Amino acid sequence: MEIKIVQTTSPKKKPDYSNLGFGNYFTDHMFLMNYTEGRGWHDARIVPYAPLEIDPAAMVLHYAQEIFEGLKAYHTADGRTLLFRPWDNYERLNISAERLCIPPIDVELAVTATKKLVELDKSWIPTAPGTSLYIRPFIFATDPHVGVHASHTYLFVIILSPVSAYYASGLNPVSIMIENHDVRAVRGGMGYTKTGGNYAASLRAGERAAKEGFSQVLWLDGVERRYIEEVGAMNVFFKINGKVVTPSLDSGSILSGITRRSCIALLKDWGVEVEERLLPVDELIEAASNGSLEEAWGSGTAAVISPIGLLAYDGERYTINKGEIGPLSQRLYDQLTGIQWGREPDKFGWVTEV
Ligand SMILES: *Cc1c(COP(=O)(O)O)cnc(C)c1O
Repeated sequence: MEIKIVQTTSPKKKPDYSNLGFGNYFTDHMFLMNYTEGRGWHDARIVPYAPLEIDPAAMVLHYAQEIFEGLKAYHTADGRTLLFRPWDNYERLNISAERLCIPPIDVELAVTATKKLVELDKSWIPTAPGTSLYIRPFIFATDPHVGVHASHTYLFVIILSPVSAYYASGLNPVSIMIENHDVRAVRGGMGYTKTGGNYAASLRAGERAAKEGFSQVLWLDGVERRYIEEVGAMNVFFKINGKVVTPSLDSGSILSGITRRSCIALLKDWGVEVEERLLPVDELIEAASNGSLEEAWGSGTAAVISPIGLLAYDGERYTINKGEIGPLSQRLYDQLTGIQWGREPDKFGWVTEV
């Protein structure tokens, strides 16, 4: 399918690049493609960034039939633009699509569209250390119909947002509250997909945790409230007695993070033992109490590696590695960001040039 390009005639004024934050500004163009039952995906186009017109009865507004992705474009010191494992993102988008009865997209076309859009808005990619261009692809149901069934029409959109370095002053370990009331996903639900509904379900616990001075919650499984699942919207790793443990994906309520699978590949490559398995919260608390919990970190595209310095559970607080970043977390961060910004050799073939 051909991608038609209509360039803007009035480029926007660029924001203050020293104070971008995350997801506050959007570039000059966006990608759009429609789906109509019987016709399939059609009219792939890049057009000037603008508000979308949407019918008040559009099904997404009522029943949340929506999925999304998140990846970044990186500006290298020698002037190239790199994407990190974009095929993985669009394959995952199709896994989310299947769960929410949304028609799959052509992965190759989506990667090509992403590259064309990033290329067109290249002047928006920030160049300061740690900054990047966040890419947000999403698909939503557009049928104007207030009845419950899968929509017959959809819109696929990609927008771009220049973002600051996640950590202004280096990697700072965060404090995490283990949540034992709300759950974000259940077995049989949509936890393994990137869909807005999972985020809506997570907001209340996040707000409560923030009020008590924690930056994220650590989710327990929705059935027994016993097994560790994720931290905020990141996957989670623990180094216990020299081994790395991360929750396995078998429950179906955990998102299969691309940063997660990259961490596992690097750790194995370094000869570190990694266990993907059920991790009961009592085992974690026991390890935190007796000092065998050596490091903990979250993994995700936004922060890459987010070290955890403190866990709170049932009114008790447990400090990890004296509240400092551990050597393995630091090494993963350095290696992953090194590959993403083209400073380190890409021996796994993870990056692709725009
Ligand atoms: C996106 C996301 C992650 C991290 O996935 P990456 O591909 O590493 O960015 C983890 N958990 C949830 C719930 C997510 O939505």
